[in-house]
This record gives sequence, C-alpha cells and structure tokens, in this order.
Amino acid sequence: MSADPRRNVPRTDTLLADPRLAEAGERLGRGLVKDVVQQVQQRIRDGEVAPPDAVDAVLVRLPGTASSLRPVLNATGVLVHTNLGRAPLSPAAVEAVVAASGTTDVELDLSSGRRGPRGEGAIAALLAAVPAAEAALIVNNCAAALALVSTAFGQGRELVLARGELVEIGDGFRIPELLASTGARLREVGATNRVALADYRAALGTQTGAVLKVHPSNFVVRGFTRSVEVGELAAILAGTGVPLVADVGSGLLRPHPLLPDEPDLQTTLAAGADLVLASGDKLLGGPQAGLVLGRAELVQRLRRHPLYRALRVDKTTLAALEATLRGPLPPVQQMLAADVDELRVRARALADRLAAEGLDAVAVDAEARVGGGGAPEFPLPSAAVSLPPSFADPLRHGSPPVVGHVEGDRTLLNLRSLPPSQDDALAAAVLEVGRRWT
Ligand SMILES: *Cc1c(COP(=O)(O)O)cnc(C)c1O
Repeated sequence: MSADPRRNVPRTDTLLADPRLAEAGERLGRGLVKDVVQQVQQRIRDGEVAPPDAVDAVLVRLPGTASSLRPVLNATGVLVHTNLGRAPLSPAAVEAVVAASGTTDVELDLSSGRRGPRGEGAIAALLAAVPAAEAALIVNNCAAALALVSTAFGQGRELVLARGELVEIGDGFRIPELLASTGARLREVGATNRVALADYRAALGTQTGAVLKVHPSNFVVRGFTRSVEVGELAAILAGTGVPLVADVGSGLLRPHPLLPDEPDLQTTLAAGADLVLASGDKLLGGPQAGLVLGRAELVQRLRRHPLYRALRVDKTTLAALEATLRGPLPPVQQMLAADVDELRVRARALADRLAAEGLDAVAVDAEARVGGGGAPEFPLPSAAVSLPPSFADPLRHGSPPVVGHVEGDRTLLNLRSLPPSQDDALAAAVLEVGRRWT
C-alpha cells in the first residue's frame, strides 16, 4: 500500500462493474449497491479496509433484500410482539403472499371475464370459521374497523360505551380519541370499575347511533367491579334497531382452552352482538388486518360507506389471511399450544450446545405472555436459556438480530416465542457473540 491510502481507492465505476456487484445491483438496485460502495471507499480512505478487499467488503455489507426490514429472532417470550411485527406468518401464508404478489385475480372472475367481488376467498374462509356471522369485511387493522363503524353509525350521533372500556391500547393509541375523531359523540356510562344494565338503558335514546363494547385487552380491573355481558345488552337493544358492536381485539375465532377469559368472535356473535371487530395479527396469527363480522345488512352498510375505500386491504393481505384461516396452524397458535416440557428439552439442548463451547449458559424455567394487548393476566409456562446480562446488546446487533429479555442479572432467551425451526439460528447467533465479545 502506498503511504496515502486515498491514491489506492478503487473507482466507483470500476467496483460497480465487478460481476458480483453488478449481479447484486440487478437484485437489490444499483443505488443501494452504490451507497455501500461509497461506505467501503471511505473505510479504505480511513485505512480500515485494504483496497484489494473492496469487493468482498461491499458484499458482506450488502443487505439480504432491498428492504431495510430485517428478520429478527424473537426470544422475548412475548408471542405477539408489536415492535417485532406481531404475528409471524405461517409458511402457507408466506407462500400465498408470494403467489398473490404479481398480477392476480383479486377482483376478476376468471370464468366470466368480469369484475368479481374483492377478497371473496378470504371472506368465505372467515365465514366458514365463524358460522355465527352472516357476512364479513376486511380492513387495514382493528383501529380502521373501529373508525369505519364509528363513522358509519356514530357520526353526529352518540356511541354508548362503558367508562371502564375507554382503553388505551399502546403507543398512545386511545380508542375513545379515535372514536371522537370521526365526529361521534361518546356517551360514557357507569363508573371506571362498575357499570350496570340500567346505566346503558338510561343512555339509550333517539341520538344513539350504536352501543359499543370494547374488550379491555391489556389490563384488568379487580375487586369491586361489575360489567354487563353482551347477551344482556343484546336483550335491551332487541327491536330498537341500534346495533351492538363488540371489539374483541385479539381475534380468537373460537374459545381457546388455554385462554378462558379471552373473548372470541363466534361466542360473542352467538351471544347477540350484531357486529364483532378484531385484529388479524394477534391471536389469529395472520397478517395485519381488521376483521368485521356479523349481520349482513350492517356489513353491507359499512362496505358501501365511502370511507371503506380508504381502509380496504391489498391482495397480499387477503392472500395471507385466507391461507392463515384455511392452512395449517399458524406460528402464534403453535407457540400458544407448545408443551412446556418440549420447551424445556429445547432449552437444555441449546444450553448444552452453548456450554460445550465455553459459554456461561444454563436452561431455566421462565414465563411467557401472549402480548399484543391480549390475555394480560395470563402467564404461559415457558423455558429459556439464561446468559450473562452483557449478551443482550451484542445479540440485538447480531446477524440475525436476537431480542431476548433482561431480567435482573441475566439475559433470558425465552423459547415459547421462537419457532423450533429457529433454534439452530439462535445457537449460531449466540456463539458468534460469544466468539466476538468474550
Ligand atoms: C389491539 C386492539 C385494537 C387495535 O387493533 P389494531 O389491529 O392494532 O388496530 C383495538 N381494540 C382492541 C380491543 C385491541 O385489543
């Protein structure tokens, strides 16, 4: 190397013409490759990379895809982690997304050559899974479903809602503020901890647009409490024409034996709700979506509302949702059902592999959570690999990044939130950190 490394910096054009970088440019976009080339040229100037290694240095720094979103191993023990994109899609759903990504018959009836109903397959799958529903509509997320309901039924009118259900879901998202932003007036009934049927009855009147019941997904009120069941509300609304809308949040289709307190779509409709709303990417385990199911006439009103056009989902979401409903059990459901003894076996196998390489790793029992604002009080028994606390940061910066949970003086890698197929990748990531940092 000459004394001045700047003289030896390979030219941008020369580097981009290298066959391996030209190929990467076709795949990732020339602009992205050029950015990395310029970073490497700077490192050469700084004396950190030798000029002959320039192409290799670019190649190792190129991202796997043209998107900056990276796959992350979720060892947090939170099954539905909002910061990690909530539900991971099932392989069947991923395949369906890829197949639907090109041009597809999302709104074309191929047999007649005419325009067809959008998302018919996903809607049919929802109705098959929730027989109590006459019709269904799919929007962007549950917040969008609430906004649509609130606009269509509540604008300029009153939405009757219990005070104990004025919920903040997370990241400052408050359901009452969303409802109010659509021009609906909130008619709050009861006290924070108690509401009675008589409170609802007293609030009903000519101004009532709908009665809303919101599942307080992420908190519980204990002690001197009282709430009103969907069935009781349905009884006082019968014959009034006022719709009863229940936001159940988590998207369980049917009752789940492990989550006895979590409301589900089928039971809530059967109990008398006219519409139920839920998320697609919580316990349902599918793509981000908002599901609206229930009485055909109400669903039709929502579908015809101009706002629906702004909230409808794209073809890939429809494909993923249908495949989640029709295909094999999605990862979230598998994680929920995983046997704790199997998790312990995985934790021991992983800890043994890491300890054999000299790392301070042991298998321990741990607790997991559903997360995503679901079943807040319900710890799920789990198992974890316990590492020293100093591992947490480098693991998050690793490749692939691993997000664990720091608890006291240890980093826990909780296995209930990680599909077993990712155990090898987890071990490799931890060993890499061990090699570099210890
Ligand atoms: C999570 C949740 C929402 C918001 O759902 P998104 O799909 O994130 O918009 C609304 N209501 C309840 C009860 C929830 O639990």
